[in-house]
Amino acid sequence: MQAINPIWAEVQQSLQKTLSKPSFETWIRPAKFNCFENGLLTLIAPNTFSSDWLRKNYCQTIEKAAKEICGHDVKVVFKSETNISSDSTNKENLDEHIVNHKTKSFPNNQDISSKNRSKNPNGLNLRYVFKRFVVGPNSRLAHAAALAVAESPGREFNPLFICGGVGLGKTHLMQAIGHYRVEIDPEAKVKYVSTETFTNDVISGIRRDGMTAIRDKYRNVDLILIDDIQFLEGKEYTQEEFFHTFNALHESGSQIVIASDRPPNQLSGIQERLISRFSMGMTADIQPPDLETRTAILQKKAEQERMSLPRDLIQFIAGRFTSNIRELEGAFTRAVAFASITGLPMTVQSIAPMLDPNSVGVVVTPKQVINKVSDFFKVSTDELISSSRRKPVSQARQIGMYLMRHGTDLSLPRIGDEFGGKDHTTVMYAIEQVEKKLSIDPNIASQVQKIRDLLQIDSRKNL
Ligand code: ADP
Ligand code: MG
Repeated sequence: MQAINPIWAEVQQSLQKTLSKPSFETWIRPAKFNCFENGLLTLIAPNTFSSDWLRKNYCQTIEKAAKEICGHDVKVVFKSETNISSDSTNKENLDEHIVNHKTKSFPNNQDISSKNRSKNPNGLNLRYVFKRFVVGPNSRLAHAAALAVAESPGREFNPLFICGGVGLGKTHLMQAIGHYRVEIDPEAKVKYVSTETFTNDVISGIRRDGMTAIRDKYRNVDLILIDDIQFLEGKEYTQEEFFHTFNALHESGSQIVIASDRPPNQLSGIQERLISRFSMGMTADIQPPDLETRTAILQKKAEQERMSLPRDLIQFIAGRFTSNIRELEGAFTRAVAFASITGLPMTVQSIAPMLDPNSVGVVVTPKQVINKVSDFFKVSTDELISSSRRKPVSQARQIGMYLMRHGTDLSLPRIGDEFGGKDHTTVMYAIEQVEKKLSIDPNIASQVQKIRDLLQIDSRKNL
């Protein structure tokens, strides 16, 4: 149930004045108040996509508005209604976790309802379940092996070594084993750990806590999932400890699952005895998905996010992003965001240039850049092309030069001409200044992004 909160209502009111209507209606209005405690404002977005988008693009704006209203610093966090996994601020940075089955169970069909949201102590990413994993010819073997070890752990596929390139689903698949194992046996002790965390634990074991604590922690499990084992390369002492951990687990019949960006025999800087242990169970690789599988992955994602994308747009995106599923998902996300911000239809024609800006060539005219920048900063076009050194004017001018460089094919001297006959070195300096500020000043970055979005809309109108 939605709680009404005066602070969030006020923040919304204030943002309504400063943000564009589509941005406000798409992102801010649907966000619901959840709680406000100790300066922490928790908001609930209707889906993971929105909560990610809010986090990336509106966090500071909301915090700033809330601070003005409350008179003290406010931190904002976003949750999503459809998927608890977005609760973690950084999905990729999964910590190690023991699944504690006394307090929870995963629903059989592995969908997350608000009921069990508060009972998610383990932190395995709830999105990474078998149900959400699309099996294609590229991953059939790895998927079958993963199911087999979840169903009969500690048997012939021990360890299961999953390898494949970046963003192809290794982490997803290995965590799915963890979820499914718990579903089958709620008493099973499952642990997911990145090699980095294991390494850090070994280091702090040496420095502070002693090795016994680590041994207790890692050897007292039924199923261990170790991600990105390639990071063991060159770490002699951690390898030593891992070797003993591996042996202890293997001897006690615990299942070991390892993910790596390369097959065991291509790992360098890892002890031979470890490599031979990695190879003694089953090695299954994941290859880049074919077009059909990529299309199916996008269709599934659209379904899960409850977004509807026309088939030809899905096929277009699937045809463009071929080697990495993370990028494929990213393109989907950008497409949906772009359409909702601009209000443009979800068609290949309107979305394609945004997904592949380089293919567009000249997107806007110099005049469109000057007008847009002038409107946005409320600086007249005359002033913009004048020699005025007033800060707001010179800043707007620099941004204008930067956008003209990236939005048209004009040379530096020609850009100088458009801005009232400035020297090309002035233009170059302006562009450098903006580039520098973009990486350190979120305010400028957001202004530039907004004008860019507006120019994109204009460029679509030119078609
Ligand atoms: P890796 O660990 O190999 O770098 P991840 O497991 O992190 O890759 O996957 C990257 C993203 O792609 C994740 O969001 C994941 O859910 C998604 N993904 C990967 N493979 C599939 C698949 N077969 N079906 C659905 N989503 C997938
Ligand atoms: Mg991974």
